[in-house]
Amino acid sequence: MQIIQNYIGGHFVPPIGGQYLENYNPATGEVYGKIPDSGPEDVEAAVQAATAAFPAWAAMPPEQRHDILRAISDGISANLDRLAEAESLDSGKTVATARTVDIPRAAQNFRFFATALLHFASESHHMPGSLSYTLRQPLGVVGGISPWNLPLYLFTWKVAPALAAGNCVIGKPSEVTPYTAYLLGEICNAAGLPPGVFNIVHGLGPRAGEAIVRHPLIKAVSFTGSTRAGAEIARIAAPMFKKLSLELGGKNPNLIFADCDYDLMLETTVRSSFNNQGQICLCGSRIYVERPVYEKFKHDFVERVRAMRVGDPADPASRLGAMVSKMHFDKVLSYIDLARQEGGSVLCGGEALQLPGRLAGGWYIAPTVIEGLTLDCRTNQEEIFGPVVTIQPFDTDDEALALANGVPYGLSSTVWTTHLNRAHRFAAELQAGIVWINCWLLRDLRTPFGGVKQSGVGREGGWEAMRFFTETKSVTVAG
Ligand code: NAD
Repeated sequence: MQIIQNYIGGHFVPPIGGQYLENYNPATGEVYGKIPDSGPEDVEAAVQAATAAFPAWAAMPPEQRHDILRAISDGISANLDRLAEAESLDSGKTVATARTVDIPRAAQNFRFFATALLHFASESHHMPGSLSYTLRQPLGVVGGISPWNLPLYLFTWKVAPALAAGNCVIGKPSEVTPYTAYLLGEICNAAGLPPGVFNIVHGLGPRAGEAIVRHPLIKAVSFTGSTRAGAEIARIAAPMFKKLSLELGGKNPNLIFADCDYDLMLETTVRSSFNNQGQICLCGSRIYVERPVYEKFKHDFVERVRAMRVGDPADPASRLGAMVSKMHFDKVLSYIDLARQEGGSVLCGGEALQLPGRLAGGWYIAPTVIEGLTLDCRTNQEEIFGPVVTIQPFDTDDEALALANGVPYGLSSTVWTTHLNRAHRFAAELQAGIVWINCWLLRDLRTPFGGVKQSGVGREGGWEAMRFFTETKSVTVAG
C-alpha cells in the first residue's frame, strides 16, 4: 500500500485530521494506496511554513534561485523511469506517454523558468522631467491547483514560474493523481530547495482546494481544471480581490480543408483525437471536414482508429490505456449513450472494453467516432474529455467558422489547409486562445497559453506567467 503524505516545511507529514482517501490504479480498478484527506488546518500549516520561508527566498540572488530550480529539473530527468511508472499507475495513461510527454515536459518546465528568471526584466519610460520604471515583485505566498489529465506536467507548469518569480507556493495536485507530485517533494529536497518554499497539500477540491482559495494570506491562485470548479473558485476569490488564472475546459474544433497535406493531417488527427485517451484539454473533439474529402477521410480515419490498440498501460504496444477513474469512465460512457439518443451513428468504438486477467476490473473504452449529429446537440456542446470525437462535413469557409465558434468554449482550434489567406483569416476569426495551423500540440513555452469564453481567463507561459506571479509597481522619479 503506497501511503502518500503532505509535504510541508520540507517534511513529509500526515494530515492533521488523520483522514485518508483511497487511491486507485485505473488499469485494474483496484485500490493501491492512500492519500491525505487534508483540510483547512493542513493548508494553514503550509501557509505558515511558506510565510516563514518567503523573505529569504524572495531575497535570494537570481543565480542561486536558478541553480536550485535547474537542479529540480535535473532531478526530474534523473527519475524519468520511476516518475513515468508512477504517473501511469496513478492515471491509467500508457507508460510510453508518461515517458515521452509528461515527465520530460515537467523537467522542461523547471528548466525553462529557471532560465526565465535570469532574463526577466521590466520597462522604463522617459519623459522630459521624469523617469518612470516598473518594479515586478513577488506576490508572497501563492496557490497552484491542478487536474488529473497531465498530472506532473501541469502541476510543474504552475509551480515552476511561481517559484522562479520569487514566491512561496502551496500546491494541490488532483486527488485522483497525487503520486508524482508526492515524489516531486523528494526531488525538491535533494535539489536543496529551502524548507517551506514549496509545500504540497493533498486532498479533495471542495475541502483542501477551497481552503487554499479562501486563505487570506494566499495572494494568487493559478487553477487548471473544469469550468464548473473554475466558476466556484472565481466566486470565492473575487470579493477578496485575489489574482486568478483560470485554465478551464474545452470543446475544440479540428477543421480539415480539401487542400491540406492529407497524410500529415490524418496521422495528426488520430493523435489529436485520442492521445492520452482523449483526456487532453487540447484534443480536437469536433472534426469538421470539407465535403469533397469527407467520405475519404471518414473511411481512412475510422480504419486507423479501429486499429488502435487499447491495452495494458505498461505494454509498449498499447496506444490507449485506461480512463482515469470509475467516475470519469461512467461519464464518458453516458455521453456515448446520449450521442445515440441524439441520433448519432457510432462508426467505431462506442463501448467499454473488458481486458483479460489482472486488467479485468480496469476502466477501458474503445476509441469512438460518431457522425450524424448537429452542432446544437449536447454531445457537440458539452465537454466529454474522453476518447470520443464527432465528425461532420461542411461546404464553405463561413460555415466552417460558424461551426467552430458555435460552442461556449474557446481553448484551442486546429486548421488544416495550405491556403495562406484562409489560414490567416481563420487564425484571426476563430474564438480560441490557441490556433494550430497544420500541426497540433506543437508548443513553444514562450507563447501565451490559455482560453477565451468558458475556457478561462488569464494566460500562462513565458513572460505571461512571470507577470502573473508578480505585482507590478510603477515608480516615477522627477528631475
Ligand atoms: P476538476 O475541476 O474536477 O479538478 C481540478 C482540480 O481542482 C483538482 O485538484 C480538484 O481537487 C480541484 N478542485 C475541484 N473543485 C474545487 C474547488 N471548489 N475549489 C478548489 N479546488 C477545486 O477538473 P479535473 O476533472 O481534475 O480535470 C479535467 C478538467 O480540466 C477538464 O475540464 C479539462 O478540460 C480541464 N483542463 C484544462 C486545461 C487547460 O489548460 N485549459 C488543461 C488540462 C485540463
